[in-house]
Amino acid sequence: MSPNTDLNQSLFERAKKVIPGGVNSPVRAFKAVGGTPRFVQRAQGAYFWDANGQRYIDYIGSWGPMILGHGHPAVVEAVQKAVLEGFSYGAPTEREVELAEEILRIVPSMEMLRLVSSGTEATMTAIRLARGATGRTKFIKLEGCYHGHSDALLVKAGSGLATFGNPTSAGVPPEVVQHTLVLEYNNIEQLEQCFALHGKELACVMIEPIAGNMNFVRASVPFMRRCRELCTQHGALLVLDEVMTGFRTALGSAQSVYAKSIPGFAPDITVLGKVIGGGMPLAAFGASRAIMEHLAPLGSVYQAGTLSGNPVATACGLATLKEISKPGFFDALASKTQSLVAGLSSAAKAEGVEFCGDSEGGMFGFFLLDKLPQNYGQVMKTSSPRFNQLFHGLLDRGVYLAPALYEAGFVSAAHSADDISATVSAAREVFRTLGK
Ligand SMILES: *Cc1c(COP(=O)(O)O)cnc(C)c1O
Repeated sequence: MSPNTDLNQSLFERAKKVIPGGVNSPVRAFKAVGGTPRFVQRAQGAYFWDANGQRYIDYIGSWGPMILGHGHPAVVEAVQKAVLEGFSYGAPTEREVELAEEILRIVPSMEMLRLVSSGTEATMTAIRLARGATGRTKFIKLEGCYHGHSDALLVKAGSGLATFGNPTSAGVPPEVVQHTLVLEYNNIEQLEQCFALHGKELACVMIEPIAGNMNFVRASVPFMRRCRELCTQHGALLVLDEVMTGFRTALGSAQSVYAKSIPGFAPDITVLGKVIGGGMPLAAFGASRAIMEHLAPLGSVYQAGTLSGNPVATACGLATLKEISKPGFFDALASKTQSLVAGLSSAAKAEGVEFCGDSEGGMFGFFLLDKLPQNYGQVMKTSSPRFNQLFHGLLDRGVYLAPALYEAGFVSAAHSADDISATVSAAREVFRTLGK
C-alpha cells in the first residue's frame, strides 16, 4: 500500500507531531518489530479494524482486559446505563462496594481491597503498604517482571524496557532504587542468599506469578513455595502482582493455580488490574484486614485518587466479572487457548521450525526455541529478527499479536474455533518462510 493511501501511515505521521513517538504507551509504536502501527478504528468480538478498514484477529485484547472480546452486549449495556447516571462523583457509591465484595468472594486471600485506576498505581501503593505495615524499607523484585512504571519498580523491568534494551529509565535517581533488590526469576539459591543477608530488612517480595512481561514464564512451584516460606520466616510480605494474571489465568487468579500444588498457598498482598476493569481504567490491591487497616484514612500509609472507583469503570468491571464467573467459562477459555498453542506448535513442527509454547486460562506465550525459558536471561537469547518476521507475516494475514517478543498473548471468549484455525493456517504459511 502506498503511503498516500495508507491511512495508518498518515495518522502515524500526524500523531508523531503531537505525541512523543506517536503513541501514549511505548510498545504500541512498533519500534521493536518495525513498520507502521495500526490505528484502531473500532473493535467487535475477537476482531478490530484499522484505519484502512483492514480486519485483524486480536490476540492482545488491550493487553489483557478484553477477556469477553470487544463490545460484549451485557457489558455495553451496563456501561451505557452507568454513563447516564453520571461519569464521576468523587464520593462513594454502592457499585464500588459491590465490586469489592465480588472480588473478595472470588479471591479469598484478601479480606479488604482498595480500588485505583491503573496497575501502576496499585503496585506502587502495594510497595508503600508493605513498607508501612512492616516498618522495613528493602524489597525484592524479580528480573523480567514488570510492575508498572513507578520509580522504585523501574529496575531491570521487562516489557517495553527489555525491548529497548534499557536496564532502567533516565529520570530515576539511583537513591530511589537503592532499596530495590533485583534477583533472577526462578533462582532459589539467590533468593535464599538474599534472605540470609537482608531477611530482617525486607518489607516484601513482589512477583508476577506467571511473568507475562517477558512473554510467558511461570514461577516454578518450588520457587513460589520458597518465596512463601522465606517471607513467612523473615516477617516479609509476599506480594503477588496479578495485574495480568488476575481473573485471566483462572477465575481465582494465578494464586488459585499455585494453591493446587502448594496446599494453603496464599499471598499477603494481591495486586489486580486489567480484567477487573473489563477495558476501563480500574485496578486494585488487597490483603488481610490487619494489613489494609494501615491505609489512610484508618492508618498512616497515604493513598488517594480523584477517579478511584469510578462509577463507569466499576460498572464495566462488575458486568465483566459476572460473565466470567459463569460455570464452565474458564474451562472453555482454557481449552480454546490450549488448542491455539497446540495448533501453532504442530504447524511449526510441520515446517521444521523450533517452537515451544505454554498457556494458562486465557493467557499464552510462545518462543521460537526448543524449550521454554525459565528466566529473563534465557528469554533474551531468543532471536528477535525471526519473531519480527513471524509478527509481520501474521499481521499481513490479518492476525494481530503483541508487537514485541517479550509479551504474552490473550484469547477471549469471543474467539471462535474458526478464528483459531485461521490463525494456525496463517502461521503455518509464515513458518514455511522462516525455515529452520
Ligand atoms: C500491565 C501491568 C502493570 C501495569 O498496569 P497499568 O495499568 O499499565 O499501569 C503492572 N503489573 C503487571 C504484571 C502488568 O501486566
